[in-house]
Parts: sequence; C-alpha cells; structure tokens
Amino acid sequence: MKVKIIPCLKDNYSYLIIDDKNNKSCVIDPSEATPIIECLEKNNIKLDFILNTHHHYDHVGGNKELKERYGAKVVGYIDDKKRIPEIDITVKNNQIWKEKKFEAKVVHIPGHTSGHICFYFFNEKNIFTGDTLFSLGCGRIFEGTYSQMFKSLNFFKKLPPDTNIYCGHEYTLKNSDFCLKHDPENKNLKNKINIIKEKLKKNLPTMPTTIKDEIECNIFLRSKNLENFSKLRDLKDNF
Ligand code: ZN
Ligand code: FE
Repeated sequence: MKVKIIPCLKDNYSYLIIDDKNNKSCVIDPSEATPIIECLEKNNIKLDFILNTHHHYDHVGGNKELKERYGAKVVGYIDDKKRIPEIDITVKNNQIWKEKKFEAKVVHIPGHTSGHICFYFFNEKNIFTGDTLFSLGCGRIFEGTYSQMFKSLNFFKKLPPDTNIYCGHEYTLKNSDFCLKHDPENKNLKNKINIIKEKLKKNLPTMPTTIKDEIECNIFLRSKNLENFSKLRDLKDNF
C-alpha cells in the first residue's frame, strides 16, 4: 500500500492510497477534486473509493466531482449518512472495512464532530485521523464533549508505537509552539521540532508522524486526566 500525500486548499491534506497489485485506489478526505485528479493521472490509476473521516466541507468537498468522474464509492459513518455528500457505503464503530488488499478498522472517535471516525489500516500500521488527532495537537471540540474527545484521544495511545499517523491539516508548527509553552523541558519535543522545521524548510509535509512521537511530544496525549486536558483545550482555542 502506497500513501501519496496531497496538499489541498490552504492547509489540508488528502491522502491517496494505492494497491498496486489489484490496481485499486482510495482517497481519504478529498477537500477538493482537482489536486486528487492530478495525482491519479500522474500515477495512471482510477479512483475506486472515497473515505471520509467526517462531514466538514474541507474533508468532503471533492466527493461529488470525483464520484461523477470515476464512479468511486463514498464510505462514511452510518450516523452521518445525511451529512456526508454522495455517501454509498455506511460503516459502524469497530467494523472492519475490507476491499481486496485494503483492510481498515473503523473507529468512532467523537469530539470534533459527533460522527467523526478514523480508518486504521492495521496490516500496514497506517491510521488516518482526520481532525481528531493532529501532529502535536488535537481538533477543536465543535459537537462533542471534552470527555468524548479525551476518550477518543486515549484510543490512539493503545496502538502500536510505530503506527504512522496521517492527519487532516498541516498545523504542526503552530501546534509545536503551544506544546513547548506548556512542556518546556521536553527533550523529545525539542528534537521533533527541529525535524519539523527541517521538513517545512524543504517544503515537505510533516506527515506522517507516529504514535510514539505523539505520545512523547503531544501535550494533549500527555494530559493525565480530563480536567487537565479540558484546561489545555480551552487555552489552545485562544492561542
Ligand atoms: Zn473538521
Ligand atoms: Fe478540517
């Protein structure tokens, strides 16, 4: 499984995953169609599936055009079937979604939105986390509760440390300032910030990050309890 990182809109990432053996592909969270079409054409492949982590426009904006062009099927969370444009296949919490070589566990991780899910490709250890877990940050709580978001984030801590995380936005540098402010003695964080800056200087994405890095450096994954997490989330909203 190859993962192509496709920058979209201002700071979004969509991801094209390719199964070379069966000549199949999926896109995760197409913000817009054009950059996805360009990537598909460059790789000489058609699009088979569109996987959406949640219903926000910057994650589903390309659904309609891509579906029309390629006949791709849209996969989304069952409770969001009215909000995800062009949805064809509904999935539930803890369901395994499987299509030839693509095999992902769907996990419901509410907080940013009530119907947010992630796609965990456990065979390859790749997880697509949308706007719930960012590198060195987490999503704003729009529809859920602090407690839901805290629980959703704790799910990630149980994954294998070498799991690759692909999230919905390039917010890493800004997030790192917040982490450093509240965790100034963290050596792992300082090392990670150097690597992040090197990547950005070369115009490269800071994705993927890993579960290990995030457990060591992400202040939201490092919060010990709900009270501490909630306080940090409020501070970050006004950072
Ligand atoms: Zn969102
Ligand atoms: Fe977003």
